[in-house]
Amino acid sequence: MVFTIYSSLHRIEKYRLLRPVSVQGVMEHALQHRERVGVSDFVLLEDFRSEAAFIDNLHKRFKENIIYTYIGNVLISVNPYKPLPIYTEEKTKQYYKKAFFEAPPHVFAIADNAYRSLVFEHREQCILISGESGSGKTEASKKVLEYIAARTNHLQNVETVKDKLLQTNPLLEAFGNAKTHRNDNSSRFGKYMDIQFNYEGGPEGGHILNYLLEKSRVVSQMSGERNFHVFYQLLAGASEDLMRQLMLQNRPEAYKYTLDQTAQPNQRSTDASQFRVVQEAMKVIEIGEAEQLEMFAIVASVLHLGNVKFVQTDKGHAEILLHDASSGNVSELLKVNSVKLREALTSRTISARGDVVNTPLDLEQAHYARDALAKAVYDKLFSWLVARINSALVPAEPDSRSSVIGILDIYGFEIFPKNSFEQFCINFCNEKLQQLFIELTLKQEQEEYLREGIAWEPVEYFNNIIICDLIEARHKGIIAILDDECLRPGDATDASFLEKLSQKLDGHKHFKSHRKADVKMQKLMGRDEFCLVHYAGEVTYNVSTFLEKNNDLLFRDMQSLMATSGNNIVESCFRDCNLTSKKRPETAITQFKNSLNELIKILSSKEPSYIRCIKPNDVKAPMQFNEKLVSHQVKYLGLMENLRVRRAGFAYRRTYDAFLERYKCLSADTWPSYRGPARDGVQKLVEAMQYEREEYRMGNTKIFIRFPKTLFDTEDAYQV
Ligand code: ATP
Ligand code: MG
Repeated sequence: MVFTIYSSLHRIEKYRLLRPVSVQGVMEHALQHRERVGVSDFVLLEDFRSEAAFIDNLHKRFKENIIYTYIGNVLISVNPYKPLPIYTEEKTKQYYKKAFFEAPPHVFAIADNAYRSLVFEHREQCILISGESGSGKTEASKKVLEYIAARTNHLQNVETVKDKLLQTNPLLEAFGNAKTHRNDNSSRFGKYMDIQFNYEGGPEGGHILNYLLEKSRVVSQMSGERNFHVFYQLLAGASEDLMRQLMLQNRPEAYKYTLDQTAQPNQRSTDASQFRVVQEAMKVIEIGEAEQLEMFAIVASVLHLGNVKFVQTDKGHAEILLHDASSGNVSELLKVNSVKLREALTSRTISARGDVVNTPLDLEQAHYARDALAKAVYDKLFSWLVARINSALVPAEPDSRSSVIGILDIYGFEIFPKNSFEQFCINFCNEKLQQLFIELTLKQEQEEYLREGIAWEPVEYFNNIIICDLIEARHKGIIAILDDECLRPGDATDASFLEKLSQKLDGHKHFKSHRKADVKMQKLMGRDEFCLVHYAGEVTYNVSTFLEKNNDLLFRDMQSLMATSGNNIVESCFRDCNLTSKKRPETAITQFKNSLNELIKILSSKEPSYIRCIKPNDVKAPMQFNEKLVSHQVKYLGLMENLRVRRAGFAYRRTYDAFLERYKCLSADTWPSYRGPARDGVQKLVEAMQYEREEYRMGNTKIFIRFPKTLFDTEDAYQV
């Protein structure tokens, strides 16, 4: 520090003659300011290898209500858990046509940058938002959308499209979000949304891809959590007439699937008013009344399904009592034959070697079948809704030169005390996105160096492709082994799957089985668990229910029955189940893997921006910054590695024009104006500032500065 101040003073002393003031005073002021609010870009952090310094910088800014910070062009966002006055119209305008450095870090800067690159440079964009549950991903994605809507205000004929794009959020959130311990409005699905722009830069349409809805939530929730919002919204907000048509009572406690809910004082009125918002959104998306009724009939049928009761016959078989109203309501709402529905819920047809055998189910199997139907119907309704929204977002007059900005709002890395199939899928997804991040960030850096004619200096980094391969390699990866077990006739179980994993993967650097684990690890790991060393750390997975969840079976009887439904949505969703095909449907994980690889393909063809969201505390409270919690996330998000790569070369770069414009007063040669090319002016400036050779490079359009201190000195001199 002493050296820093000395050398800065030494440099700055020379400019005193230009504008004589108290150098010491200004220096101290600048230092104090940095001390208080930290640096706005982590690349300017002196001690960039220290996680403590990183977190300290985040914390300082958080205390000052500054939630955004950059690492180069990656935006870090810390959830403030309170409304901040940073999204006003005035603030929005502050980011119009601005380069990153011209205004404080902000999600609007990311949006504006993407928009400008798309419209003026015709490079397709994607904005990747990641972070754990409750960190602010969905809020950030909405801000991007809102910014783009405001940014294109001057354009004609785009109002309807913008309305539709904005209204997709409340609609999808009603069906895909739920209250969890970690977030009152948690997205229980992954979402990638393309916004399509015409040649003039006006939004003309959009397209949404959805990933892995957490359908198990339909039939059970952790204590204190809720089912998907729409169930409560419907019960609280539907008109009496609609309630009668759907044969519903208005209390969520009356239904098994919505029984467990923490009733907050004004929850019911919030749900009711939200129902009106959803109905309004449906109108904007042009979902007509008949279609709405069919959607709500499905939602209601799920509630009734949960209440279907089974009794046990003398022979141990499950039976539905004749006067059970719930199953009658389900068949009425789904418009399927009531006798057939009872049969499908209590027995199962199996064809073996040409013979068709009808086997009765026991109580446990019947409950399983009932829940499987509820989950399947709801899951299909959700996918149908996404498809329906997409059809409403198809451009009215497609422009062949149109291009897109994609926004990815997808679950971050998950490590719980007990991790199951769902966490395995989610963490696999994060490995793939990390892989893409590494490739694209390094590629972007390399390309910029090449464009600017600066020698590329190789950077050491951890390439997680080895973990992606461990999971998805053909024939020998974990997914292949799991699918083999699922497809193997006979006695495959979760335990035999685990056994196969250890046989084939023990010895892999990133895989640990109980059998091969060291003593310390064995203590931490159950016999029914395996551990993966992810890029973000070790995660232990419990194999229980892996096979069942991967097979994701809905009995064939049920599928054929649903294909006969008089409800158009249900019928269309089950029509394509391809019941006649002998081929087994793809397993859940293979479907997920394929859609993920499709997504990666889409993303790799675009220029990415990143928003990394951080949750500052576990209690959804403002002003609380739990350093331990933040430290975990800094690790899972790979931020230190990201910063290290960014700092491996030149910390700071700026176009000659911008650099000259700001610092021209620092040399008599360039002040008050410089008439020649900006590059020469900058050369004169750095000579006057006595930059050492190692401190900087002159690229084709930009100056590159290696150390933050050099820039701070220049900045301090400027302030003087
Ligand atoms: P999940 O993975 O569970 O869907 P998420 O990362 O999408 O979580 P959000 O739903 O975006 O999290 O944010 C959770 C809550 O945090 C919001 O409902 C809101 O109350 C608050 N929040 C997030 N970002 C901001 C912000 N920029 N300003 C104010 N509050 C915010
Ligand atoms: Mg979300």
